[in-house]
Amino acid sequence: MPADQEHAAGRTPRPTSAVEVRRSARRRRTVSAYREGDRTVVLIPARMSEAEEERWVAVMLDKLKAQEKRRRPGDAELAARAARLSEQYLGGRARPASVRWVTNQNTRWGSCTPSEGSIRLSHRLQGMPEYVIDYVLVHELAHLLEPGHGPAFWRLMEAYPRTERARGYLEGVVAGESLPYVPPARDEDREQEPALPGGESSD
Ligand SMILES: [Zn+2]
Repeated sequence: MPADQEHAAGRTPRPTSAVEVRRSARRRRTVSAYREGDRTVVLIPARMSEAEEERWVAVMLDKLKAQEKRRRPGDAELAARAARLSEQYLGGRARPASVRWVTNQNTRWGSCTPSEGSIRLSHRLQGMPEYVIDYVLVHELAHLLEPGHGPAFWRLMEAYPRTERARGYLEGVVAGESLPYVPPARDEDREQEPALPGGESSD
């Protein structure tokens, strides 16, 4: 399972399979840790006891998690990013009134209400690669200009060069989780969703 997916689902890495402890004779007191692919490497002094090792691994995993959480963009950064993406790929024509993260959106990556100019992104995207989050942002920005998923919409999306790659990534996440499709509520009909299986076709 890719590390990104674990972050997106908010789960901690499994200590038994995902952590590799490396002992170093040169290390005397310092402990450090970093992510390497889907593993976490913890470097400890060679003479550390097993009890100490266990304690330090837990400490370092918490520390890494906190660091990664701080790196995730907040609402303000999201709005700035949307403005930059609109400028870069949509000629600055999409001008959202608000862009924010939401935690109540589990079957759609993003949604927008064109009449209000509001864009919402699922917190499940947090921790995914930047180009994937950018894709969902550009997708929702494009909906401010083209409500449906017709040819005009996809012509707009052609400007974003990593559309296909990002869609493949998201499809992989969904396939990996076997996410059940929940139909949108009636009063959400005006909202638009990026590609999810069973949703309005964007293929
Ligand atoms: Zn859409």
